[in-house]
Amino acid sequence: LYADLSAASCSDDLTKSVSYGDVCHFVKNEMENTTYKLIEALTEQLARKVLIHFPIIEKVTIEVKKPWAPILLPIETVSVVMERAWHTVYLGIGSNLGDKEENLKTAIDLLKADELCKVLQVSPFIVTAPVGGVKQDDFLNGAIELKTLRTPEQLLNLIGEIEEKLKRVREIHWGPRTIDLDILYYDNEVIRTKCLTIPHPELQNREFVLEPMCNLAQNLCHPIFGKTIFQLYEDLRNKEN
Ligand code: ADP
Ligand code: MG
Repeated sequence: LYADLSAASCSDDLTKSVSYGDVCHFVKNEMENTTYKLIEALTEQLARKVLIHFPIIEKVTIEVKKPWAPILLPIETVSVVMERAWHTVYLGIGSNLGDKEENLKTAIDLLKADELCKVLQVSPFIVTAPVGGVKQDDFLNGAIELKTLRTPEQLLNLIGEIEEKLKRVREIHWGPRTIDLDILYYDNEVIRTKCLTIPHPELQNREFVLEPMCNLAQNLCHPIFGKTIFQLYEDLRNKEN
């Protein structure tokens, strides 16, 4: 288990740490009351449940050993080891169709309803003019800080489901939408795959992203540009002037 123990070690107060006894009983209870076909699935679920149930724990490494695997070889155990952790994520959110504020709030409620996400902060919403040349209504934009147990791909899937639920219209590229959710940052990670670019490739060019982000994390450093949110915001404003 990985946790910040400084408060417990300085105060000698158990409530500021995690009781390993509680964790052991929790794990025993889970093992006795759930059945999985794969030890992979058991390990994954156990890691999630421990991280959700004990908020002070930031990361776990779990090894589940299976004794006497039926393979007719003298192997005592086979095992699966997993490391799972809460990741810090920033999302950009925008709407310019229908009841915009209601759309943003509904999307945030759907994020809060996901057991693998904990919404920590939401920026004030700002009204912004549309970019990209399509004639359309103003946007309402904001940014969200959350902790998640989802991988970047799993988070993208959740965002897709939320956009789907809010019946996002995708007909015109950069056109009106009831909701747009973008992953801006995922820890310090740099990711470039077919369907995912992190940090978001446009964030440094978008005042409607940087302004709300200044409210949440103005000193957060961009892993490629080596600049804080505030510096990126200043650069963009200087360029525009
Ligand atoms: P935009 O947000 O630039 O206006 P869209 O929301 O229509 O455009 O683009 C969605 C697609 O962008 C998704 O299908 C997704 O695969 C891809 N994408 C790549 N990187 C990201 C990211 N960091 N966050 C969200 N979507 C991303
Ligand atoms: Mg998007």
